[in-house]
Amino acid sequence: MDSKDLKINVAKLMKTCFSQEEVSLQIRLALGEEGIYETPEGREFMIRLLLESAPDGVRVRGTIKGEIQMECDRCLEPYDQRVDLSVDDFFCQPSLPLMMEGGEIEEQVEISGEDSYLLEGDHIDLNNLLNDYLILALPIKHLCDSECKGICSRCGTNLNFSSCDCRDDYIDARLEKLKQWLDQEGG
Ligand SMILES: [Zn+2]
Ligand SMILES: [Zn+2]
Repeated sequence: MDSKDLKINVAKLMKTCFSQEEVSLQIRLALGEEGIYETPEGREFMIRLLLESAPDGVRVRGTIKGEIQMECDRCLEPYDQRVDLSVDDFFCQPSLPLMMEGGEIEEQVEISGEDSYLLEGDHIDLNNLLNDYLILALPIKHLCDSECKGICSRCGTNLNFSSCDCRDDYIDARLEKLKQWLDQEGG
């Protein structure tokens, strides 16, 4: 996911410490590797965030709501996965001046971007943050419904919409083999 709409200018916000700014975005998202998870056609994510400036960066709090189109692991049909999550995170200044007594700047402390989000000049880029939060929020098992019956492994019928006769035959056939085998072993 890499959307220019998710880069937010915070120059004004950063001028005054502990000032706040509300950000509301309605946007289509594509996330994951090569954007495999997408907002269903014609729908958008609602992103509402409160940005707050701090001496060392910008705090970001708010909610992300929307739907991601996924494929059910059991029946392989596409379905819309509801996502509704809250965000509370921080964008750090990439380097912080370390003040000595008398207000002299001793050195610049570099902040690693590996375990925190970094301010990019006058901007925060919400792309990575949204990607991380959304990927974590998606369930490990993708199911159109917790009661999804899946497809028949033999004939491919979607058992949510219709039934087939082969399931019983299949089990019977296997039991028959087992019975023969047990008979042989016993005799
Ligand atoms: Zn399903
Ligand atoms: Zn079947």
